Amino acid sequence: MRAFIFVIAFMALFFCGSSASKEIALTFDDAPLPGNSFMSGEEKTQRIIEGLQAQQVNDALFFVTTGNINDEQGIERLNAYTKAGFHLGHHSHGHFSLNKSTSNDYLLDFYQSHLILQSYDNVLKLHRFPFLHYGETQEKREQIKARLEELQYQIGYVTVDNFDWYINSKLLDAISKKKSINYDRLKEVYVETIWRSIEFYDQVAVKHLGTEVKHVLLLHENELAALFIGDLVAHIKSKGWKIIAPSEAYKDPTLIKYSASLEFNKQGRVAAMAHDRGTDKALLRSEAENTQYLDALLKTHSVFK
Ligand SMILES: [Zn+2]
Repeated sequence: MRAFIFVIAFMALFFCGSSASKEIALTFDDAPLPGNSFMSGEEKTQRIIEGLQAQQVNDALFFVTTGNINDEQGIERLNAYTKAGFHLGHHSHGHFSLNKSTSNDYLLDFYQSHLILQSYDNVLKLHRFPFLHYGETQEKREQIKARLEELQYQIGYVTVDNFDWYINSKLLDAISKKKSINYDRLKEVYVETIWRSIEFYDQVAVKHLGTEVKHVLLLHENELAALFIGDLVAHIKSKGWKIIAPSEAYKDPTLIKYSASLEFNKQGRVAAMAHDRGTDKALLRSEAENTQYLDALLKTHSVFK
């Protein structure tokens, strides 16, 4: 009898333990972003691939802004991602805001990108709205949703928004001003702020949606990712999280239910649904999504001098 109770207790522990692992997929927007004097585009792509592979990340999704493909090298960089087993998604051609364009103009741009992506491997039919602008009226959101569905696209939503783009702009600014850069501290700021955003939106899901979800992290295909993606992944894993394939994350039964009636989309799908259930917008933005907060953090860490 005691042995039996022991076996039951062990099994309960095993199953609870295995289901407790939180999951997140990695996505990188605006690929292929141009290189600069600090790091060429090719080097950036190579470093991101190596950083992911060093952490045994088998799949990640690069949302392509086809207007960024300016030359043969741009094409080769996207092919390098797919050859490494990663996937590409649709992030428009001209990176226009749907809130500031007509549905027709947006769809023309969408279709241009859709055609360009046909010549690549490993393309998933997922569209990520530039600036996470889903359309400022329900009518527009419904129109676009219907058209995307006709073309068999799903929305490539995010669950974890953050300001990696702002920290990256500060890095490029420091480089152009020839400031000295403490890369170890820059790494801490990057990893720490993104980790805090992950924890924040995970807590929003548990508290306001009442469930665990499969997360989708928004990153950009920028210099910070090239420098520190391996460190970021190692940190996420050290917290007991699992990196999953984006195609797996986009099967989340709670988050997949998009309605054009959701009006608060720019902080990601978890926040949009929490707002729809009555949570105040002010509670749905992590403190790291704030330029003043990040300026102060970069300063106290003496990242740039
Ligand atoms: Zn973008």
